[in-house]
Formats: sequence, structure tokens, C-alpha cells
Amino acid sequence: MPDGRRPSDDRSAIVIVTRFAPSPTGPLHLGHAYSALTIQSLAGDGRVHLRIEDADSARSRPEYAAQIVEDLTWLGFAWAGEPENQSDNRVAHDAALHALGERGLTYPCSCTRRDIIEAGAAIGRMGMVYPGTCRGRPLSDECAGDAIRLDLRRALAEIGPLPAFAEFGPLNAGTHRLDVSDLVAGMGDPVLRRRESGDIAYDLACTHDDAAIGVTHVIRGEDLWHNTALHVLIQTVMGWPVPSYFHHALVRDGNGRRLAKVDRSKAIARYREEGLNAGDLRALLPPLPISRWAT
Ligand code: GLU
Repeated sequence: MPDGRRPSDDRSAIVIVTRFAPSPTGPLHLGHAYSALTIQSLAGDGRVHLRIEDADSARSRPEYAAQIVEDLTWLGFAWAGEPENQSDNRVAHDAALHALGERGLTYPCSCTRRDIIEAGAAIGRMGMVYPGTCRGRPLSDECAGDAIRLDLRRALAEIGPLPAFAEFGPLNAGTHRLDVSDLVAGMGDPVLRRRESGDIAYDLACTHDDAAIGVTHVIRGEDLWHNTALHVLIQTVMGWPVPSYFHHALVRDGNGRRLAKVDRSKAIARYREEGLNAGDLRALLPPLPISRWAT
């Protein structure tokens, strides 16, 4: 470049804005390392944020957050600016929830898990699909400790034509129109603010935070594919841009089992203690996916 700047220094050259958003509810494992390195690779010269998703107050621990930053640094994962804490955005999350309430799109819900299972069983349905027991309760009726749910039917009625989103991952690549039946039959009206803890739910916190930093591409594991329809709905209802998505395959062990966070033996810190360096750890991972997006 004429002035000697590298392309990544040139703000006008930044096309992709993305993020790695681990929850500090346990140590990072190989699956997280794969996700972080996939994000770094697919972002190219783009901007990568690190967001610590600590909105779940009961399960998040500051010591895990600190260890995540340490492990990622050791791994060679680089991010722009300071790590961001999702909990710092609580005022903005509440404002988004309030805005939905003002539009009549949310309602308070006092149902316990047991209530939901019993109400479902009464109409011959198994599992945790919320049957809408509290739908129609006014927000003024909100009792401390109630959950707040999004009224899916009203939200869908408000957005008009169903939005589409682009998926570039290997599993479901293509353009998808929002699947309403999947949303309604799959979960029922989703919780946006949790019962008892009052924590903002992942789906609202995450979509808000992505919009706030201008995320253009969401890159994450395929285990979150089923959250994406709701995310696209929230983005559309809130007037936030709908990013492109890339859901990567999960790292599995030799028996095809997914490496879960509970599998402490796979914690990155354990590999470090055993003397592996970042290159050794990378060599344990499957090849990183190749970007196929048109930017
Ligand atoms: N915090 C979520 C997790 O650790 C990931 C959120 C996302 O990438 O959208 O599973």
C-alpha cells in the first residue's frame, strides 16, 4: 500500500466484523479452541471481538473469564480492543426488553418447569414446549421473579414478510427463510428474561450485543443452529441488521461423541499443564473450515 499500512490497519478494508463469545461457566476445551481458530481464520482481515457471555449470573464465574482470556492468548487467538463483558450491557438489554413490552410483544410468566411439563402432558404433548399458559397477562401484572416471554405470534404478525438469512456453514449452507413452524412448535414463546434470577436470556443479550458492535458474520458451533431462527426474528423485530451465519461442525472425540464442557480432561489448561504448546494443540484439531462467503 502506498503509505505502508497493512490492509488490516485500513478501516475501510474491514468487511467482516465477528466475535468469539464464550460463556465463563467452565474452562475452555478443544471445541472452544476450534471455534476461536475457525473464527480467526474465516474473519480474514476483518475485526474479531471477544465477548465474555456472563449474563447467566448463577453459572458464570470471573475466574473462568480470566482463564478464558489467558488460554486464548496462549493459543494465539487475537481480538480487537479489550474483552467485552456481556453483563456490562445490562442497561441496554433492559431497554430492548422494555421496548418490546411497550409494543405489546411480551408478557410475564410465572410457570415453573414442572407447570410447563404438566400443562403439555394435559394436551398430550411431551417435553418443554411452552403451551402459552400465561400469554395475554399484562406486563403491569408482572410479579417480582416472573419470567418475561416473547409472544411469538404477535412478533411474527408484526414483522410482515418473513426475513431470510444466509448460512455459509457446511451443514445447512444456503439462503433460509425464517421457519415459523420450527419456532412455534419447537419451543413455544421464548423466555427473554429468566424467572427468579431476572437474568436476560442468551438469545436477547447475544443479538443485542452483536448489533451494538456491528457484527456482520456470526460464526459459531452447529449446536446453536436451532437458536438462529429466534435470533433472526429478534433482529427483525428490533430493526437490527440480520448478519450472515456460519455454523461450524463440532469437535468430536474418537467415538464420535461431542466434547462437552463437563469433560474436564479436555480443558485447554490441562494440555498446557502437560507441556503441549499452541502448535501441538492446533495439531489435535480437525482442519479449519474454508470460507465460502461472498463478501
Ligand atoms: N455463549 C455461547 C456459548 O458459549 C455462544 C454464543 C454465540 O456464539 O452466539 O455457547
